[in-house]
Order: sequence, then C-alpha cells, then structure tokens
Amino acid sequence: MLRQTFHRCKGFRRPLSTIVNNSLDDFTVGGCVKEPKVIIIGAGLAGLSAAQRLASAGFKDFTILEASHRVGGRIETFCYDNKVLEFGAQWFKTGLNNSIFNLAMEEQLALQSDNNSAGIFLSPEGLPGIRQSVGDIGYTIFSEMKSKLNKMDCSADKVQRSVLDYLNLRIQQELATLSGPLQYDVYRVIYGLTNDLKAEIGIDLSLASALDVHGMASDSGRRVTVPRGMANLLAPLLREIPAESVHYNKQVDTVSWGTQVPTSPRALLMCHDTSAYEADYVLVTVPLGVLKSTADTMFCPSLPSSKTEAIKALGVGHLHRVFMEYTNPFWAGDQPKYRFARCMDEVNGPKGWASTISRIDYVNNTLAFEVSGQQAVEMENCSNEHVAMELTNLLRQYTGNWIPFPSNLLRSRWWTNKFFRGAQSYLGMQSNVEHQKELGSPVFAHNDPNNPILLFAGEATSIGSHATLHGARTSGIREAHRILKLTKAQNKI
Ligand SMILES: Cc1cc2nc3c(=O)[nH]c(=O)nc-3n(C[C@H](O)[C@H](O)[C@H](O)COP(=O)(O)OP(=O)(O)OC[C@H]3O[C@@H](n4cnc5c(N)ncnc54)[C@H](O)[C@@H]3O)c2cc1C
Repeated sequence: MLRQTFHRCKGFRRPLSTIVNNSLDDFTVGGCVKEPKVIIIGAGLAGLSAAQRLASAGFKDFTILEASHRVGGRIETFCYDNKVLEFGAQWFKTGLNNSIFNLAMEEQLALQSDNNSAGIFLSPEGLPGIRQSVGDIGYTIFSEMKSKLNKMDCSADKVQRSVLDYLNLRIQQELATLSGPLQYDVYRVIYGLTNDLKAEIGIDLSLASALDVHGMASDSGRRVTVPRGMANLLAPLLREIPAESVHYNKQVDTVSWGTQVPTSPRALLMCHDTSAYEADYVLVTVPLGVLKSTADTMFCPSLPSSKTEAIKALGVGHLHRVFMEYTNPFWAGDQPKYRFARCMDEVNGPKGWASTISRIDYVNNTLAFEVSGQQAVEMENCSNEHVAMELTNLLRQYTGNWIPFPSNLLRSRWWTNKFFRGAQSYLGMQSNVEHQKELGSPVFAHNDPNNPILLFAGEATSIGSHATLHGARTSGIREAHRILKLTKAQNKI
C-alpha cells in the first residue's frame, strides 16, 4: 500500500531501501525464525521509526514504553481555533536523501516553503527600521557566510574553533569593504541574523564547535513546513505499528542488563508505576538531556565509561517557542517578516533572554517568537505574565508604537520537562563526531561479546544529522537493522 502511494508521487523515484540495507530487505521473522523480545524506550521519531521497520519485517514481539501520554516526542503540534502551532520541530529539507521529505511524499502531505526571506529589520530607534535595501545587503552577506561555514572542512584544524570565532573573522572582513553609514546598519543586520543560527543550534555560538554546522548545507534542499502540522508525519508510522505495542505513561526508571544467571532475562526494565518488562534487546531512544540526568541511576550495571564520557561531552541546546494571541490583532494579514537588528554585545553578552529573539512569525491572530540558548532556560523559569510583558516591551521599543498586551500566551517547556531536558544535541568545544559514534554504539554483556543487549538511537546518535528529524528517523532505522542482523545471526540464517 505504502509503496503504491510512493510510486504515484511525482519525483519520488528511490524506494525506502535507500536507507535500508538490501540484504535485510526480504528478511522476515516467523516460521522457523525465532523472534527476540524487543523493548524500545521512547515513542519519538527514532523509537517509532525503529518499531515501524521491525513491524515491516514481521516482528510481533516488540513494545514501546513511552513516559508521556502521547507519541511524537519533540514533534508536538498543537491544533486549535483554526491554528496549527508547532511547539517542537517545524521544518525539514526537500530532497530524496532526506528521510522526512520521503515520508511526507509517501503520505502525500501538502508542503509549504518556509518563508525565510530577509524581510524588514527593526532597530531600537523604532519604525520604519533599517532601510530595506540595506537589510537585503546584510541578509545576502550573512547567507553566503553561513553557506561557506557549512561547506568548510574544519575537521583537520589543530585547534577546535567556535562558530562565533569563524563568523567574527568573516564579518570583520565583509564590513571592511563597506562605507561608513552603511557599515553600522549592515553590522546590526548581520549580528541580528546570528540569532537565527543560535536558534538552529540552541546554544551561544561561542560555545558551539564549528564542527557542528559543518555539513548542514550538504542536504541542500529547500526548507518546507507541513501546514496541517508536523504530527501528520507520524501517521504512516503509526499505521504500521500495532496500537497495543505502544504503552503510554510508562516512564522507565531502571534497566538491569547482562545478568550472569542463565535463567534470568537478558534485560529487565522497571517502570515508575512498578510494572516490569523483560527483553532480549533494549533500544534506548530517550533524549541526550535525559541520559545526562538519569544514566547514572537508570542502568544497572552502569554503562561503560566510554559511553558515559560521550554523554557528558556532547552538548544539549535550548530552544523555546512562545505564542502570543490577540483578540484584535494590530497587524494586517499580509505583514512582511520582521526581524531584529542587533549589536554584537547585545547578541553575545549576558543580556536578557529577549535579546536572543531573531524574528516575529505570524499564525492568524498569533505572534510567534523563538528564544534560544541558555537564556531560554532562564525564560522557562519566568511566569507567563513576565514573558508577555518582556515581549510587549520589546515590540514597543523596536516599533516605537504602543502595542497591546496579548489576550493569551502559550509556550513550550523543553527544559523543565524531565522527559526531554533540552531541545536538541550539539557539538560543543569539548566534543566531536567520535562522541556521537560512541553514544550510538551497542553495549554488550561481559559474557556475550557477540550479542549486544543495549542499543542506542535518537537524534544525538546521528553523525552529520544530529538535532534533526532526519537524524532521529535514520538512527531508529539503523538500530532496527542491527536487531534484524542479530536475529539472522542468532538463527544462523
Ligand atoms: C523547539 C524545537 C524545534 C526543533 N525544530 C526542528 C526543525 O525545525 N527541524 C528538524 O529537523 N528538527 C527540529 N528539532 C529537532 C527534532 O525535533 C528532534 O531531532 C527529533 O524530534 C528527536 O527525535 P527523537 O526520537 O530522537 O527524540 P524525542 O522526540 O525526544 O523522543 C524521545 C522520547 O523518549 C521519551 N522518554 C524520555 N524519557 C523516558 C523514559 N524514562 N521512559 C520512557 N520514555 C521516555 C520522551 O517522552 C520522548 O517521547 C527541533 C526540536 C525542538 C525541541
């Protein structure tokens, strides 16, 4: 059924096997093949993708334990009042090498180009803001700079440099070519735009390694959104996974593994509600932030030191969305995109969280803002009233107009939610791809060096695609393939 759909899709030529090892394509369990018992921890995109792949290979004995009451994890679409608000992921790139684009094509989802145009840059002097032609110059310079940074191979550098180090150097070179009055405004436009990049990574650019952004452009398609909501991407996965395989409100507290007693299960999982599950393979897909805060107590015996070092070394960034609703919107429907021009110390200094906001988006009667980096954690601790007041003051300062308070405010809370503890992983100044590789490596019991028990997936384990939906999905499929291969080997096929 799925294959039929995708053959009908225009431009969709490569089958799912582009990300599937061919030798496993025809392998199914059942008949004389003994099926292992698999437990998947987490029903985010990685966990669901692994489950879908196992289901398509005929596996029946797998269970997903999800701590919350919903699937999707960091895909969280909130639909109400004719509005679609994305609290988590909101775009992906077109292109046949992007597994999310392929999923959207299979599902025949209508897609929309993400309006990431230059727009109008507001300055603290109020409207009309920076001249459009000057904003366009700054926007073009920054886009080229970012694209060069993406393509730059800094892996051979002796000293690991931060994204900000690279950018600062290039920004100074670019500004030196401009005349006086133009220079100051272009400078503010460019530093305002660095907040966009900060939101993509989730941390101050001085703390993110240039290795983090290297390769981001290799997937060079257009950015697209799903107007009906990103949660629709999950539908094709859920159709293939038996509903009874997903167990909700099952926060896994401990995973005991590698017991020496031959009659004991290979792994035993205990949930917060005291229910217990036995498994031959445990696929852990909880976010890196959760591993950072619970790995010490979750695994018994402890994880190998190389794994715990990787968990420590990789970074967790922060990104929050804030939506302010107005009973009587004060803007016209066809509003241009507004962005904030900033000075360098405003963006990089210890200023308040509102200084990390790069632009304003509109969803009907609602304004949407993104707050990123450590300042997003700061904001999460503020009350809704305080957040509304700060954002209203920001709008008043940058427009020079009296702007009303919103009638309602909604926002994500990825840091205080103990099932996430942050937005996405990043490569910091103390981490590299070896840590990502180690995080995604399987863990074996001492007495069984050929057959691992603990497997790891999730965006943070995806080399070259961490912090993305594509990375999460391919990591889940990668580990499902590992289970298929191990099952083949155990059955001596
Ligand atoms: C605000 C925001 C914006 C983003 N924007 C984009 C974007 O535009 N494009 C893009 O490609 N990516 C984006 N991302 C990243 C993308 O959302 C993630 O990379 C991806 O969804 C991660 O999927 P995952 O399966 O690895 O983890 P998750 O989706 O986090 O799934 C992990 C699951 O584990 C569960 N869990 C945690 N602890 C336990 C436990 N103890 N027991 C059982 N279950 C547990 C959680 O509840 C969760 O459901 C964004 C992320 C955020 C937060």
